[in-house]
Amino acid sequence: MSKVDLKKLTLHQLEIFLKQLGEPAYRAKQIFKWMYKGQTQFEKMTDLPKALIDKLDESAYISMIDVYKKYQSALDETVKYVFLLEDKNMVESVRMKYSFGVTACISSQVGCAMGCNFCASTEGGLVRNLSWWEMADEVLAIEKDSGEKVSRVVVMGSGEPLLNYDELIQFLNVLNMPIAFNMSFRRITVSTCGIVPEIYRLADEGIPITLAVSLHAPNDEIRNRLMPINRRYPILQLLDACKYYIMKTKRRITFEYALISKINDTDECAQELSSLLKNLLCHVNLIPLNPVEGKAYKRSTPAQVQRFEKILSSRGISTTIRRELGSDIEAACGQLRRSLLMR
Ligand code: SAH
Repeated sequence: MSKVDLKKLTLHQLEIFLKQLGEPAYRAKQIFKWMYKGQTQFEKMTDLPKALIDKLDESAYISMIDVYKKYQSALDETVKYVFLLEDKNMVESVRMKYSFGVTACISSQVGCAMGCNFCASTEGGLVRNLSWWEMADEVLAIEKDSGEKVSRVVVMGSGEPLLNYDELIQFLNVLNMPIAFNMSFRRITVSTCGIVPEIYRLADEGIPITLAVSLHAPNDEIRNRLMPINRRYPILQLLDACKYYIMKTKRRITFEYALISKINDTDECAQELSSLLKNLLCHVNLIPLNPVEGKAYKRSTPAQVQRFEKILSSRGISTTIRRELGSDIEAACGQLRRSLLMR
């Protein structure tokens, strides 16, 4: 009989497994807790009796994602991890250090199908969805490697999380569970390119995470050029979904806006954007475009980034410019997966 990987079980499934071994349900909680402390050896789970440890060794194991490569930024404390999955696919995650703690940027898919034409993550198309436990393992491996607890998670690595909906929700629940990562939903951000029906679904889920929406343009004409998804779900439909999300969750939405020189960074764009977002409970995060090799787009000049920010702020839109981390190791927004495809 082949051994069962306990990492792939939900708490409920683990309880059933232990019941089959003739053990009470609370043992599942103990084991689950150890697993999410990064422990993979049963004999080191000090509150388990020897007889149970022997039974577990015979019938089960706990897998751990492999750190295939690690890049340390010379500019800041950012670390990019390349993880090797069981099926030999690779996926990247980024660990960022802020004054308030460690943030992990997690990938939700191997590759991406969305085709945003300024982003490297989509260049090779979608390979497959990640399972919830692979996403949890990204966080766990970062904690294990760095010896520091991850205090925030942003699902902003490669992939479109809302197209991997069920696994995403299961992952968010494990992040939140007191006996797993014990992370408040408020410390979790999920970023989407704007899958409208799934935004409604997420709003009805009743979990107070932060939703980030990759907007990148103030009108359909520009957004259609940058993001193919806009032809399916144009801006007004997207904003309606955002309004519903805000109404249901009372949470402020973050709009991400990558500033691309002469494409979406003009004064007119800033004015149009501020009219579009007026009276919406939102925050705009400006990201000076991270150049992706082989693409014609250029990042906006620092002066234009400042101007853009001023126009939005002066019109009452809460706006910040995102600090760039890890650009020397291709760990910045839009750069993930590139190094994997170039190998
Ligand atoms: N699919 C999701 C999450 C992954 S992308 C989404 O689209 O939101 C994370 C963020 O990085 C998105 O806002 C994305 O648009 C942005 N991004 C992609 N390429 C970029 C680039 N070259 N420079 C700056 N930001 C980029």
